[in-house]
Amino acid sequence: MGAIELKTVEKWFGSVQVIKGVDLQIEDGEFVVFVGPSGCGKSTLLRMIGGLEDISRGTLEIDGRNVTAEPPSKRGLAMVFQSYALYPHMTVRDNVGFSLKTSGAPKAEIDAKVNEAARVLKLDPYMDRRPKDLSGGQRQRVAIGRCIVRDPTAFLFDEPLSNLDASLRVEMRYEIAKLHQTLKSTMIYVTHDQVEAMTLADRIVVLEYGTIAQVGTPRELYERPANLFVAQFIGSPK
Ligand code: ADP
Ligand code: MG
Repeated sequence: MGAIELKTVEKWFGSVQVIKGVDLQIEDGEFVVFVGPSGCGKSTLLRMIGGLEDISRGTLEIDGRNVTAEPPSKRGLAMVFQSYALYPHMTVRDNVGFSLKTSGAPKAEIDAKVNEAARVLKLDPYMDRRPKDLSGGQRQRVAIGRCIVRDPTAFLFDEPLSNLDASLRVEMRYEIAKLHQTLKSTMIYVTHDQVEAMTLADRIVVLEYGTIAQVGTPRELYERPANLFVAQFIGSPK
């Protein structure tokens, strides 16, 4: 389960409106990418879904349940950021299992979930290392591993690869695509990188200053951009 619906969602910072009545339905298991230029509201929209920003007006539903006023911990979502804050003094194994340990899960269950995350993310060789002895891509995998063990309803990614160098970014892009195939969870992924959007998305949401310029499959956006803004952003020949 992981259907997410935004109904006429608005965000105001004081008297400035940065999200202007967004309606969007995301199906369970869909990979949806938010793209658009810097400052168009991608992070704000994602943070509202995750509960890190209040929703000024409108409603947010997860699997038909109105969660607009619920704290992040009650939404069952996992957020992965570009600055992956791992615990430096803990091993990879302890980093991945930490949230389960604090929730009081039995040791056998923690071990099983951590081992499964390690398998999916190919972290087995690194389980006893500390974050400082990992590459950027490995650290990013650990950050994702910490989310996987909690069986989230959906994953929210905010430019998770932007701190990595170009070749690692390509590699991690494939890793994330594979992760989606394996877990079949809903994923919402923010990027300003058109190539990332076109290769990862089932559907792309193009944001233009707080409104949705177009929603569609990569192919639809490429072949039938709704306007010049979308065409220029996607790089299609309109
Ligand atoms: P993006 O992620 O697409 O680059 P953001 O969602 O970060 O864009 O920002 C959208 C707009 O909201 C920008 O104009 C930004 O300056 C503004 N904004 C974001 N966070 C705040 C805040 N806490 N207070 C005031 N304005 C903000
Ligand atoms: Mg942002």
